[in-house]
Amino acid sequence: MTDAASQTTPWMIQLTPLERSKLKKVGFWGGDAVPWQDAPVPEDFVDLTWSSEERARVSTYLGESPAVECAMFSATCRICGKRDGRADWVTDGVWVWPADFRHYLDAHQVKPPAGFLEHIQRMQFRLPAPLVPAETTIERIASPFFVGLERTDEGHALLFRPPPTSRKPTFVTLLEVRKETGCYQVTFNPAYREDWERHSIWRTLALALATPAGALTGSRRILFWLFVIACMGVSLLLPLWMRRH
Ligand SMILES: [Zn+2]
Repeated sequence: MTDAASQTTPWMIQLTPLERSKLKKVGFWGGDAVPWQDAPVPEDFVDLTWSSEERARVSTYLGESPAVECAMFSATCRICGKRDGRADWVTDGVWVWPADFRHYLDAHQVKPPAGFLEHIQRMQFRLPAPLVPAETTIERIASPFFVGLERTDEGHALLFRPPPTSRKPTFVTLLEVRKETGCYQVTFNPAYREDWERHSIWRTLALALATPAGALTGSRRILFWLFVIACMGVSLLLPLWMRRH
């Protein structure tokens, strides 16, 4: 957890559930490790005659595409057994594949199915840009990520960082959104977890009180706080009263 790299996500794209549901799957293999048994196996797609030039271009295309889902585990190659990096799900906005699909092309000359290959050829081996407009990506990212961060425009990207004067630790130390692609990358603060655990009792109490109070408006909020004060008063005075009687 202290490793700086593990605190940074891969380049990601924020799709809506509807957009995700329309993605076509490729490179998800069948067999014992996968629930759908009728899915293909990689050995069936090995093609030693496939042009190495096109294979390299497709491999680059796969590598440049952003993750739509981060995996908490690494993938193991179904052919050679090599553990090959993270098992993130990667997309070009039309198709979705596991990040290790690229290994099958590079190491085992697995040729993707015709539909996917024709799609990449039609795209001229370039990702559509932007996949999601940068401002839309910002709207779609969960708002707690931005707490305590300041937005700056760096020309090619929009950066969100804690202001230099900030002393409070923030959950995120850097959030970068590329203007050209709409892809983003998040670096989380490793110290935040420690800080959170140290103050968790007080934070939990403060949140427990602030959440219902924040949801209430006007006189209801006043009544809520009167109720809290009354409860505290009773809990303090009751033991005293019981001692006397
Ligand atoms: Zn392999």
